[in-house]
Amino acid sequence: MSDYKEKPCYSKGKELKDVRKSGKAVPWKSKKLLSLELAERLKEMEYFKKFISVSQCAQVLVFRKTYAGDYRLFQTWFCKDRLCPMCSWRKSLIQSYFMTRVVKEVFKRKPKSRWIFLTLTTKNTFTAKELSKELSAMTKAFREMCRRKAVQKNLLGFYRVTEITVNKENMSYNQHLHALLCVSSSYFKKDNYLNQESWTQLWKHHMKLDYVPVVNIQLVKPKKFKEKESDGLVSAVQETVKYESKSSDYITQDFELDKQVIADLSEALRGKRFSSSSGIIKKVQQELKLKDAEESDDLVNVDGEPNPEQFVEGEILARWHDDVGTYIVDN
Ligand SMILES: [Zn+2]
Repeated sequence: MSDYKEKPCYSKGKELKDVRKSGKAVPWKSKKLLSLELAERLKEMEYFKKFISVSQCAQVLVFRKTYAGDYRLFQTWFCKDRLCPMCSWRKSLIQSYFMTRVVKEVFKRKPKSRWIFLTLTTKNTFTAKELSKELSAMTKAFREMCRRKAVQKNLLGFYRVTEITVNKENMSYNQHLHALLCVSSSYFKKDNYLNQESWTQLWKHHMKLDYVPVVNIQLVKPKKFKEKESDGLVSAVQETVKYESKSSDYITQDFELDKQVIADLSEALRGKRFSSSSGIIKKVQQELKLKDAEESDDLVNVDGEPNPEQFVEGEILARWHDDVGTYIVDN
C-alpha cells in the first residue's frame, strides 16, 4: 500500500513539495516562476508563439512513486525553448548524468588517459549577427585545430560546448568554447606537451585573429586525495562542463535590456549546435546510446530511462496555479 497520501506535501489541495529521499527539494516552483518571467518578456516583445509555449511549460506535473520511496516525474509537457529556465534546468540534469556516464566509461576503457579542460575565447561581439557569425567561426576553427598533427597525435577524443556570457556594462556578448580533451599519457612527454602559449598560438592561427586571444588550459584532477579516481574525475568534470541556464542574464530588473538580450540570443542561437564530440568520447556515446543535453528530446527522464518495475502503485498530479504562484496537488 502506498503511503503517499499521508504525506502533507503530496496531499490533495496542498502545495507540492517534491522532496527527494536524500532530503533535497526539487526546485519546480522557482523554475516555473522564472519561466513565467521569460514568458512575460516574450509577450511584450510580441513573440506570441514563444510566449504561449513558454508560459505553458510544465504546467501539470504527474509523478509516480518508486520502490525507493520517492517520486519520479512521469509525465509533463516541456516547451523546449532554448532560453526557458525550466527546460534549461532539466537539460542541466541530463548533461550531468551524461558526463558522469561518459567519463566513467572512458576511464574504464582507457585508465591511463588524462583529461584537459580548454577554454577558448575571442573578443566580445555586439550584435546578434556578429555573435552568430563568431560562434560558427569558432566551432569550425576548433575542428580544424584538433586535426593538427601536434594535437591529433595525443588526442583520444574531445567533448566541446559553447557558452555565451553577457556584459551588461557595454551590452556585449562573450562567446567561448569549453572543451574537455581526453589525451593519452604521452601528451605530457617533453616533445608532445602543448602549453598555454602553444594553445593560444594555435587558436589565434585557426581563428585568423590579429590579436592574442584569451586561452585557458588546465589539467582536470580529482580534488580529494584518495578519492576513487574515476569518482574524483567525474566531479571535476561536472564542474567544468555544465549546461547552465544563464537566465540571470535576461531576467533582471531592467526589462528593456532583458528584451534586447532575449532577441539577440534567440537569433544568434538559431540552428546552432551547443555541443559536439569526437574519438573515444563519441564512440562511448554511441555504444552506450547516451544523449547529451543537446541531443536529448526527453526532458522527463533526465537520468536514463526508468525501469517500469521500479514504480509502485500511486500517482500524483500537481497543477500550476497562477493566482497563488505555486503547484497545488490535484488528486
Ligand atoms: Zn520550458
